[in-house]
Amino acid sequence: MAVDNMLTLRCKYCGAPLDRKDVESDSPYVTCPSCGTTQQRVDAQAYLEQLMGQVRSWVNQALPGGFAISQSDSVDSVARYNIFMNSVKPKVDLEYGEYRFALNSLISHTMLVIPFTVDKTLKPVHQSAQAFAFGEKLRQIEPLAVDGNSKKVVTSAQRMSDAYALLINNCKLLQENKDGRYLLMVNNFTAAANDFGGIEGYEPAQRRFEALAEVCTGCEQLLKGDVTGSLGHFEAGLAKLKKVSASLLSNLKVGIMMPAVTQEIKQTEVLRGLADLVIHDGTTDPLKALSTIRAIFTYDYPTSGNWGYLLNNRDRFNEIFGYMAACIASRNGGTLNIAAGDGDILVPFWNIELRYSFQTGSLWKKHGVEVSENLLAAADFVTDTACLSNPTEAVTNVFAVRNKEGMFAGITGSETSISSSAGIGPLISSAHPNTAGSRRIVVPLSTKREAERLVEQYVANTAAVENKLKLSNPEVRGLIYVPCRTNNDGISAPAGFGLLAPARMNRMRLSKLVII
Ligand SMILES: [Zn+2]
Repeated sequence: MAVDNMLTLRCKYCGAPLDRKDVESDSPYVTCPSCGTTQQRVDAQAYLEQLMGQVRSWVNQALPGGFAISQSDSVDSVARYNIFMNSVKPKVDLEYGEYRFALNSLISHTMLVIPFTVDKTLKPVHQSAQAFAFGEKLRQIEPLAVDGNSKKVVTSAQRMSDAYALLINNCKLLQENKDGRYLLMVNNFTAAANDFGGIEGYEPAQRRFEALAEVCTGCEQLLKGDVTGSLGHFEAGLAKLKKVSASLLSNLKVGIMMPAVTQEIKQTEVLRGLADLVIHDGTTDPLKALSTIRAIFTYDYPTSGNWGYLLNNRDRFNEIFGYMAACIASRNGGTLNIAAGDGDILVPFWNIELRYSFQTGSLWKKHGVEVSENLLAAADFVTDTACLSNPTEAVTNVFAVRNKEGMFAGITGSETSISSSAGIGPLISSAHPNTAGSRRIVVPLSTKREAERLVEQYVANTAAVENKLKLSNPEVRGLIYVPCRTNNDGISAPAGFGLLAPARMNRMRLSKLVII
């Protein structure tokens, strides 16, 4: 027992086994490689004794009266088999089933966070100490598993509960932006990958967590300022995650990981793009670039009202990461849909097509005229509560321009579209794939679905006050980037917007926007 104690000291905070080198050192303090907590050696020893007491009492309850594990060598294998099947296995199955269920739910969530950010959405139902203790119980009853099947049950359960405990510790690290957390996550992912490697059907989980260990190593290096070193890890991690994603399609056991892996790929693409950008463009400060990402996550999106459920759903970051990755890439040869015009900054707008008919007796000879308009909506509207409560603030509001007779100004002669005459139509049709070059880029912060909702509300509000209009459902076509001029901390609307420049543009502040 004394030797065992030396080798298997347990962390009193999370229950993880401590590193052998720490256990063997003379220091009165030991640091847990899984949760990172430093504690007194005597406390870790005391915890181990307490744990073993619990395990012994569990084992004693599981075994028929009078039987002791220490005697199992002297008991014939048929008797051991019977004890295992009738007394031990039902108790194991019960607890194991619970952990396996919780583990499957855990691995269906993304388990990666970008530096400086946290993810508080993961709420494991067990404590890591419980799951680590279960692994220890299984180790104690191992001598009773005599046939192949029983052995498989015990080792799978052992590996599964161990991996589960390690991932629970990572959930805590995802929730807290503390120094050194990526190194701890690397430890946990690596050990969990090792555990999954021995369970049939869980190979993609093994490779996923190996990949995440790689990405976390890159994050740690990025945070230390070693951008060149980080790039290789991001690339290796990304390649592995993509392989995992492909293998999940045909895997029933861990197919549930697909959405999580998809998001982890997007996050890694952003990290890789960021490292790449910093390396190729010597002027970008890596920590400033990272703080850009932090800004996306820490924006104080409204939590109440109509928008709360959309803006507080983490799935939206999938899409926004994709836009951000495209922005980064376009500084380095990739393309964005960019409108013609001069300007030192590219500002993203949602391109929306809106159809309506207009009842008129004078300007148009027919009674109802079909009109097609193009609207642009500022793609950062979600950060502006005035836009959320009044969508006209975010868009090029074609219906606002009217003369004293209630007719729309800007429509002259045979023109039937307000936006075209205002120059927005030509601006939109000038957009085509192009590189950003040296121009700075404002990162879009809204999703397509959010743009649809904005414009649905815009149409509903407009229809309520413009009784001569019949509006049909608008269509959000995609993003276009409009070259604009910076003006101190603000942004000037391009000439093409004319009188229709969204009110939002007056409130855009460079210091508040997310800019690449
Ligand atoms: Zn610990």
